[in-house]
Amino acid sequence: MSLNFGRTLLAIPGPSVIPDRVLAAMHRPSPNIYTGELIEITETLYPDLRRVACTNSDVAIYIANGHGAWEAALRNTLSAGDKILVLATGTFGLGWGELAESLGIDVQLLDFGFQSDADPDQVEEVLRNDKDSNIKAVLTVQTDTASSVINDIPRLRKAIDAADHDCLFMVDCIASLGCDRFEMDDWGVDVMVTACQKGLMTPAGISFVFFNDKAAEARKSVAPGQYWDWLPRTQPEVYYQKFAGTAPTQHIFALREALDILVHEEGIERAWARHKTIAHAVWAAVDAWGKNGVMHHNIADQAKRSHAVSAISTNDDHAGQIREWCEFEAGITLGIGLGLAKQNTPEWNQYFRIGHMGHQNVAMTMAVLGAIDTAMKARGIAHGDSALVAATNILAKHPSG
Ligand SMILES: *Cc1c(COP(=O)(O)O)cnc(C)c1O
Repeated sequence: MSLNFGRTLLAIPGPSVIPDRVLAAMHRPSPNIYTGELIEITETLYPDLRRVACTNSDVAIYIANGHGAWEAALRNTLSAGDKILVLATGTFGLGWGELAESLGIDVQLLDFGFQSDADPDQVEEVLRNDKDSNIKAVLTVQTDTASSVINDIPRLRKAIDAADHDCLFMVDCIASLGCDRFEMDDWGVDVMVTACQKGLMTPAGISFVFFNDKAAEARKSVAPGQYWDWLPRTQPEVYYQKFAGTAPTQHIFALREALDILVHEEGIERAWARHKTIAHAVWAAVDAWGKNGVMHHNIADQAKRSHAVSAISTNDDHAGQIREWCEFEAGITLGIGLGLAKQNTPEWNQYFRIGHMGHQNVAMTMAVLGAIDTAMKARGIAHGDSALVAATNILAKHPSG
């Protein structure tokens, strides 16, 4: 016997829940790909993507997941043998660095582990010591989805400026865009990569590289290869070049609908505020459950937690039991402890993550928290009480309108 009936809910940190309207927008035949509506719709995406990223910079669209955008950003700005500084605060910072190494780029890694953000002072020191400007770029992740830490992008920019270094500043906003505040131009980011399946609420399959004039200048002295080149994608002679081949037709319809929701109906500021409230509600519940020490935030300092995802550690194998109960008895899939422990080890079952990015509301938030609360009762896991009350206390304070 199981309570698992009705609609299932994916509460992992990407892919995120796709709004029904976005799914419906995809459900139509492919249009003419050389002329007409598709071309017009595609043109409307760029200004809206810029609004989401708070930038006037160019943006190239790739038919690829986030890893493709990672590679595109590197190929358009760097060559084999170039040196870069990678700031890792979890699996994804490490991953972007590994991808760079695979391209023959010389990676200096500042690894801050899985429990803290990147330290701007250390970044400044490394750059100050790089007297000959050998370091061509600093790479970092705004929200590292594995640790759920958020890096302070404006402070890292200040560190680069304080060292008077002219490297490119490249930021991965794959988990954070549309969820955590991000202002590309005001924050002095030269290259930003993101993908469509997290805060942008679209099925995985397209990703984006935003680049400013400084990055465009760097592009002139590298050979990115025809497919990854961002130039024809941003300055095409014919539409076909925008995607270096066939356009991702249904994805374009989906993204159009998602941007209608995010940019035109809700507005990016409101989306950030909603994510903030929902994140605080989740944290309040975790704090309440963990009163007797059975559960902890992976990132202890609240100011350093992303609003898109929360990584949580538990005693013993409680996280594994919670994940299992939620999935099989409640139809709610929680995130695994990616990078926090090795799979098939006892530690693997001490971590779970809650994705609260993108298409999230009170009903979905409380469903996830309610399922976790129920899982602990069902499995006899001791925990603090009143977690759901703590969460609704926070949700109730969200400014209306
Ligand atoms: C999801 C994610 C990625 C990887 O994106 P894929 O689409 O899986 O390639 C990279 N960086 C961050 C921060 C992410 O959250």
